[in-house]
Amino acid sequence: MLVYSTGFNGEMMRLLLVEDDALLADGLQRALRAEGYTVDLVDRGDLVLPALAAGGFELVLLDLGLPGMDGMAALRALRQQDKQIPVIIISARDALDDRITGLDSGADDYLVKPFSAVELIARIRARLRRREAPGSEILTVGDLAIDAARFSVTRGGEPVNLSRREMSVLLQLVRHRGRVLTRDQLEQGLYGWNEDVESNALEVHIHHLRKKLGSGLIRTVRGVGYSLSGDQE
Ligand code: CA
Repeated sequence: MLVYSTGFNGEMMRLLLVEDDALLADGLQRALRAEGYTVDLVDRGDLVLPALAAGGFELVLLDLGLPGMDGMAALRALRQQDKQIPVIIISARDALDDRITGLDSGADDYLVKPFSAVELIARIRARLRRREAPGSEILTVGDLAIDAARFSVTRGGEPVNLSRREMSVLLQLVRHRGRVLTRDQLEQGLYGWNEDVESNALEVHIHHLRKKLGSGLIRTVRGVGYSLSGDQE
């Protein structure tokens, strides 16, 4: 099943859900997917860092009582590597001490169970919006101007119509310009782990991007992946 992710601004939004209660995890995944998010689940604290290392996540929902490693310890480890990614703790621990420790350890928000999916989604939106707030980000590549927040592209000042997934591939390449992205990295930015990816889907998106934005824009690195050509910076 392919789920199109549409965050508040239309951008693909991929969330990491860390939750060992299978029933709750299932309910949250459904609610979040219905909202258009791509959601990947891990059910152990010690799997948080390996999961994030795969890249492409916009936000983490973190339970505290977890096997493998306590959520608080996982949060501290995470913050040593990544200061930016928003983390919302979702926990039944409602003591003030826990909340303070959570926020002090680098969480951005703390939601006490039980909570409604509606409230969680509102908190996620608020968190992602805040992150994007400092001005819209316009990325330029040659004659392309890419407005990441509005999810729009112009070429030589003329608007170009890209699908969400084409846009997502383009953004990944532009944000990592100067580097070769592997097929796996690009695909992981596009789909959740459990989604069924057609083997040629990425090639199709690349093909469309070249057609719409010029054949020279994206370089194929044989056997590895893709990079932006020219490296205009
Ligand atoms: Ca738990």
